[in-house]
This record gives sequence, structure tokens and C-alpha cells, in this order.
Amino acid sequence: MARTIPIQPAAAEPSSAAITPSADGLGCASGKDAMQQAALAAGKGDVLAQYAADYPLHPDTGPHDQPQSMCPAFGSLRVGLRMRRTATILSGSACCVYGLTFTSHFYGARRSVGYVPFNSESLVTGKLFEDIRDSVHDQADPAQYDAIVIINLCVPTASGVPLQLLPKEINGVRIIGIDVPGFGVPTHAEAKDVLAGAMLRYAREEAQAGPVAAPRQARPSAPTITLLGEMFPADPAGIAQMIAPMGLAVGTVVPTREWRELYAALDCDAVAAIHPFYTASIREFQAAGRAVVGSAPVGVDGTHDWRGAIGAATGVSAEKIDAARNATLAAIRGVLSQQKINGRITLSGYEGSELLVGRLLVECGADLRYVGSACPATPWNEHDAQWLRAKGVHVQMRASLEQDLAAVREWQPNLAIGTTPVVQAAKQACIPSLYFTNLISARPLMGVAGAGSLIQVINGAIGNQARFDTMKEFFGGVGQGDEAGVWNEVPRHFPAFRADVKRMNEKDKKKRKAEEMGG
Ligand code: SF4
Repeated sequence: MARTIPIQPAAAEPSSAAITPSADGLGCASGKDAMQQAALAAGKGDVLAQYAADYPLHPDTGPHDQPQSMCPAFGSLRVGLRMRRTATILSGSACCVYGLTFTSHFYGARRSVGYVPFNSESLVTGKLFEDIRDSVHDQADPAQYDAIVIINLCVPTASGVPLQLLPKEINGVRIIGIDVPGFGVPTHAEAKDVLAGAMLRYAREEAQAGPVAAPRQARPSAPTITLLGEMFPADPAGIAQMIAPMGLAVGTVVPTREWRELYAALDCDAVAAIHPFYTASIREFQAAGRAVVGSAPVGVDGTHDWRGAIGAATGVSAEKIDAARNATLAAIRGVLSQQKINGRITLSGYEGSELLVGRLLVECGADLRYVGSACPATPWNEHDAQWLRAKGVHVQMRASLEQDLAAVREWQPNLAIGTTPVVQAAKQACIPSLYFTNLISARPLMGVAGAGSLIQVINGAIGNQARFDTMKEFFGGVGQGDEAGVWNEVPRHFPAFRADVKRMNEKDKKKRKAEEMGG
């Protein structure tokens, strides 16, 4: 049953002193430190401290001053855009918004992305905040929306635009303001958690305050498991089949597709953190008294262990767990006995599910040497990391692009699975490669379906080696380095000119150094 949520008066306007002008003109190319200093000076210290605790960095590897993957804010934007009756508005530099909007539509958003533009003056005077507030008021139509999400990108965050002063709701439409700066949230995966966690918090507080809307579909009579993480659509159904004999049901998948699913997600018996980086979301589930289980039912060992952990968290008897295990494990063993992956593989990505894919590859027979994930080590992927290390796989959390590339060079795999720049480098080195996000994440991984589908795609890609060899033989060294591009005639070298330029550059460098020391 729905309840009426009281309208709160708008909070006082921020004074112009709350806005720090120094962030204007900064961006992800300006360096993390400059942006962080501006944000701290603008009063965003608490938000940055929370992000630093939730999304810890690796002492050696980063994240990095220069972006090594897509803009992190895309993660939050995507979560908002995939929800029904939810408007998502960006506040940031036009170039950032252009890139984020482009990427959203590339991934099939089929929905408008809202944008509140600014200029130096509106940023400095605090007018940007007023514009955001006006735009939120304009949009807050309860006939169309349950919630409006407003996302501060780098510059408004570094300038201290105080989204926390927006009304919590307008006409019954919930207003969720979040800061998602590239200098505070390391990956787009973790940015999904920023919004999912903020929504769960809001929904938990609503549920604690009184009755809330019932989910669209009736709650299963069996104890339910909430699944945490965006996964291939067949996977929740596969997991549901797996746990049905244990007397359990799959409930909601978070991030959800509708506001009221958030209540259903909280109303579970345990949470399966299939993707291990949802730290803020897990905090909300734990605050609601829900047990959280890490890892996932991948391969024989993964399915065996995960079922035991889920059973223990929900009080299922050991006999029931064993009985349920036997049928599925036998089916997975059956698939694995019929076909194998034959080849050496390196694997890297920024989705957060890299360790699960790594486990499955090993069980499918692959000679896996390296797994790099841009996401951090958490209690929820510790078991997977230990399992892989015990099998001799080098596991690198918060991996940098340089580490991923070094692994490909070191191990000379038959197949490199990775992000776009890794795939590009591998192809250049005549190594077959697969893009993790589009070709590996976008297929089932769990249970029997996972094992079968992964072997096919991997063996198909490894089988392409002959085509790579033919291409390399045909093209040879044509079009490499400074001979790349379209030429009207065969490129000619001018070694004397090149030596002259080199000499001038060195002279210039020495002169600058001498001036610096003299000054
Ligand atoms: S919002 Fe994204 S693209 Fe824009 S400066 Fe920040 S990290 Fe870069």
C-alpha cells in the first residue's frame, strides 16, 4: 500500500561563499590533486572521505591521474537511466555531458538525459545551484516520476555545489542528489554503487518510517535472496533454479528497474553480493539487518561453496544443501567433461566480475596466468582471489592499464581478454583478443549455462590465430609508427632533418633546465 510522503520546505539557499570558483576550468585532464584540493576547500570533505573509505585505492597502482577507463559518472547515469519513472539530470561541463550522453545512447538508453548547463559566472555566484533547484522543481511531476536523480560531475563537485540542500522530495517525487567526481570515485563500476546505495538508503528510511508501496509482483512465499550486481538476464533465472531445491527463491536484482523494487530488495532474507564492489549498498542492507554472502555460483567449486554459504546464511539444513548441490554439480561436471579450453589466457577488465570469469576459465581447462581488475579487493571477492591464487593465477586488484599490458607481454597468451586498449595492443601483437565488457560480461556465467557458453566463445577466439598470422604476413610492417595513416606516395625518411630536430630539442631542454636552476 502506498503512503503519502509529506512535502518538506526547500532548505535555505547556499551563500555564494559556499561556492569555490577555483574549480572552473578544471577537468579530468587537470590532475586528481588539483580537483581534490578544490573540492575540500569547497566543503566536500565528508563526501570524499566516505568515498575514500568505500572505494579504497591501491597504494602503488592508483587509480591514476589520467583516466584509464570511461568517465566514472557513467555508472551512476546508467543505473538512473535504466529505472522506470526516474529522471536523471547531469550537472557538469558540457564536454563531460556530451561524452556521457553519447555513451548512454550507445548503450541503448532510449531516454533523455537531463542537463543543467553552467558558465563561470553561474558557478561562481551560486546561480548554478538555483538553476538546478529550478530544474528539479520543473521536473517533479508525480504523474511521471517516482524519483529525480541529479548528478554533480567533477567541476560542480570541486566547486562545492551543495546538492544536499535540495528538498528531499517535491510533490511526492523523491530527489536524490549525488556527487560522482572522477577524482573521488575510481571506476564506473563503483559509481553504480554510489547511486544504488543512495537510493537504498532513502528507501530504507522510508520503509522504517511507515508502510511503503508493494512490489509489482507478489513476494515469493519462500525466503528470498536479493542479487547484487548487473548481470546477464538469464543468470538470475539460473540461480533461482539452483536454489529452489534448498527452499529459497531469488528476489530482486539491485540496481533495480523501479523504485518500489528497492523495498522488495531490502525485504529479503540474505543478499548475494555477486558483484563485490557495492560497498555503500551493502552498508544499507546490513543496516536493515540482512546477511551478505560474497562470490557466486560459477563452475563446480564456486557453485559448491556459494550454495553452502547461502544455505548457512538462511538457515537451510546441511542435508538440503547437499541434495540440491548434487544435481547441479553433476550437470556442470557433465558440460566440463565434454569440452575444454585449450590455451593460455590473460584476463583484465573494469566490470568487477573479472575474478568470477577467471574461476570459470580455470575450471574450463584454461591455462590462466593473470587476472587484473580495476575494482578493489573487498571481503566479498576475497574467497575468489584466494581460490585463483591457489591455482597459480596472478591476481591484481586495482590493476592499472600498464599492469594489464605487461601481463600480455610477459605471458604471450593464446588469448587476451581485456579492455579496449588491452585488446588493441594484443591485436597489434598478433594475439587473438576479446573485449571483456561486450563479449564476456554479456553472457551467462552462473551454473551450467555459464560453463557451456564461455567455452564456445573462448575456443572460437583462440581458433582465430591462423587469421591473425595471415593478416600479419600480408600487411607486414606497413603503416606502423610515423608511417601510419593515408599517404599519396610511399612515405620517405629524412634522417638528417630528424637529427636536426632532435639536436634542437635537446638544446632547448638544457637551456630550460639552466634557467630553472638560475631562477
Ligand atoms: S565528469 Fe568525467 S569526463 Fe568530466 S572531468 Fe570528471 S571524470 Fe572527466
